[in-house]
Amino acid sequence: MTSTRALLRRLLPLGMILVLALAACTPSAPPSSQTATQPTPAARDLAEDEKLRVVATTSIVADVVAQVGGDRIDLVTLLPLGADPHAYTATPQDLRTLNQADLIFINGLGLEEALMPALGTLDSAAPVVSVNAAVTPLAMDGEHAQDAGAQDAHEHAEGDPHTWFDVANVILWTGTIRDALSRLDAAHAAEYATAAEQYTATLAELDAEIRARIDTLPPARRKLVSDHAEFNYFARAYGFEVIGAVIPAISTMAEPSAQQLAVLHDQIAAAGVPAIFVGTTVNPRLEEQLAQDLGIEVVTLYTASLSAADGPAPSYVDLMRSTVDRIVTALGSRE
Ligand SMILES: [Zn+2]
Repeated sequence: MTSTRALLRRLLPLGMILVLALAACTPSAPPSSQTATQPTPAARDLAEDEKLRVVATTSIVADVVAQVGGDRIDLVTLLPLGADPHAYTATPQDLRTLNQADLIFINGLGLEEALMPALGTLDSAAPVVSVNAAVTPLAMDGEHAQDAGAQDAHEHAEGDPHTWFDVANVILWTGTIRDALSRLDAAHAAEYATAAEQYTATLAELDAEIRARIDTLPPARRKLVSDHAEFNYFARAYGFEVIGAVIPAISTMAEPSAQQLAVLHDQIAAAGVPAIFVGTTVNPRLEEQLAQDLGIEVVTLYTASLSAADGPAPSYVDLMRSTVDRIVTALGSRE
């Protein structure tokens, strides 16, 4: 908890919204829906044509920040493509990058659990902003909390971090990013507002496109099994049932017991689910074994990291399109 407290001290200039969003082990009140009353942090005086130095943790967060900040910011993505955000720890170069930043965006809600200690020890005064500050997180359910053990339940008292699987949440990220950039670089607030508005329209179109694609899948087939419990927001937003996960926790930093795997095996067989979905950021060993035992497919998805520029998920919008397409194709394939 020491690192969390240190981080919270650094967040105080940004006001209670972020504190509520990030505070582990504190009963969360619903985040306030407005940001206008937040005190303004002391902005570094930018020379004309000087850009804000912005760091984002995951490639997904970075893409949404880039959509709003555009050419007005110098953006560095901390995690390499394919890195597991739950497990990633800071390198010495990362610490230098973070210390030179004017503003740091994180997913928050405990996603970057292995990175948080480093964020708590920075020398810089850069605000650390959770893009989820305006999102109401889903609580972990009791079953997952028990399955994952007391330590995991403790670390994730803030809720499920996989918010980006509901496009409506990323629309909220866009507003939070716009406000944070505008507070530190008020001279370009109008540009950030315009970009945020355009990207919000793009996201609304994406949401409609996802719903239309899922409409082609019979409701009885909308059942998900994944590597860890990352599809709770997706299931709620788009009408799927989560049958289970190989790691029955919202973090990848856990191991399932043999008994848990046996139970999941039976649940998959009973539900008749034809595929296990595995993110590109995890080792698929257990999933492949289970799928082989059941005679079903393992389908790879871009879930927690974008792909390279020439891959199927070089942006958040492409990630969602690719994920939904692969899910609908895999679940619709069995007669
Ligand atoms: Zn995850």
